[in-house]
Amino acid sequence: MALATPIEEPRTSFAIAQRQFDIAADLLDLAPGLRSILRSPQRELTVNFPVKLDDGRIRVFTGYRVQHNLARGPLKGGIRYHPELSLDDVRALAMWMTWKCAVTNLPYGGAKGGVVVDPKQLSAHEIERLTRRFATEISILIGPERDVPAPDVNTNPQIMAWIMDTISMHQGYTVPAIVTGKPINIGGSEGRNEATARGLVAVLTQAASQLDLELSRLRIAVQGFGNAGANVARLLQARGASIVAVSDSRGGVYNPHGLDPVAILDHKGHTGTVSDYPEGEQISNADLIELDCDVLVPAALGDVITAANAPRVRARIVAEAANGPTTPAADDILYDQGTLVLPDILANAGGVTVSYFEWVQGLQEFFWSEQEVNAQLERVMGHAFHSVLRVAHERGVHMRTAAYLLAVRRVADAVTTRGIYP
Ligand code: NAD
Repeated sequence: MALATPIEEPRTSFAIAQRQFDIAADLLDLAPGLRSILRSPQRELTVNFPVKLDDGRIRVFTGYRVQHNLARGPLKGGIRYHPELSLDDVRALAMWMTWKCAVTNLPYGGAKGGVVVDPKQLSAHEIERLTRRFATEISILIGPERDVPAPDVNTNPQIMAWIMDTISMHQGYTVPAIVTGKPINIGGSEGRNEATARGLVAVLTQAASQLDLELSRLRIAVQGFGNAGANVARLLQARGASIVAVSDSRGGVYNPHGLDPVAILDHKGHTGTVSDYPEGEQISNADLIELDCDVLVPAALGDVITAANAPRVRARIVAEAANGPTTPAADDILYDQGTLVLPDILANAGGVTVSYFEWVQGLQEFFWSEQEVNAQLERVMGHAFHSVLRVAHERGVHMRTAAYLLAVRRVADAVTTRGIYP
């Protein structure tokens, strides 16, 4: 028997992002100059900065802010706190933000930032000092008309409030539009907290209808139970779907008869994890990817669906709440086996869309109701989904490549229209 040739996967998330871009650039027949401009970030800042710990010791942390491309407007992208964060991760995440903003047609370029830190090892006061110092370090790049951060993994509205307060203290006046994902009482937007999940549900609803599937009959498995994952589970259960599995960094829980996400959130509040929730069977994060379900929602970190496990994915739809969960080789395997992948740059764009609404509201000091926010979000997501679907049908490609074709074309056109300075 001939041995199957192992599929070579790009080794870092940035190499994956570049491979995804190359596929689209080839299909678009992008000129070499434009290709080189878009293939790498425009600016990268690394900062090493000291933080005083509660016991008086000083520890130096490393952080990054990467700005991928600013042709279509100010930069936008979250801030991640994670012990294994690398500059390459941030480059990939910044590039994905450029395409995400272009798919949804928001007037932004893409950026991302983060600090190499495990926030679980720090006290709340230490996290506040780290955040304020990091905000100061990257203040040479960020600003309401320059680059606007937002929450990502392990950062939240309180951390955004500290960033906003720090920059406002430097300026001597309040600058609400410096970050999005802020608490409502200091200029946050209604609907921002669950916007990523709501956007994903809007895209999934459209996709299910294309496949003649009823949302209320779907069995859903969600990996990651934070802002994105827990809200997806809650919103989908409210729409009648059955949440058969959820997980977090410590492992997961499975119940083919359905789990109650609200009760699990409450449980997590007491024990710190969903993995020991008693009303189901304990499973690993690897098991969750291969579960018998209709919709798999990766909502944690990247690189979880690879050539190694893609053949065993049984879901009919993979809806990517996380950034970068599926490798290019896995994309092809899933496509060939008939799994519909709703790619990150489309499926999780609800967060940046409502961040855009928050930024607009902050600049105008004029605030919308939750109904207005949600209605505008549905409009943007529905339009983006159908635009991507149209390209997928026209070009005979899967949804990720279709989303890239749409996004890369828009950014390339903006670069061309603006011209090369000087
Ligand atoms: P979060 O910090 O609120 O939650 C992350 C969750 O993932 C936690 O439950 C954590 O325990 C779990 N997790 C961490 N490591 C894991 C692992 N190895 N295996 C399984 N679970 C693990 O973060 P979030 O804001 O919900 O972000 C989750 C994903 O969604 C990220 O990829 C992020 O980039 C993406 N995303 C978030 C937003 C947003 O608005 N928050 C928008 C777009 C995309």
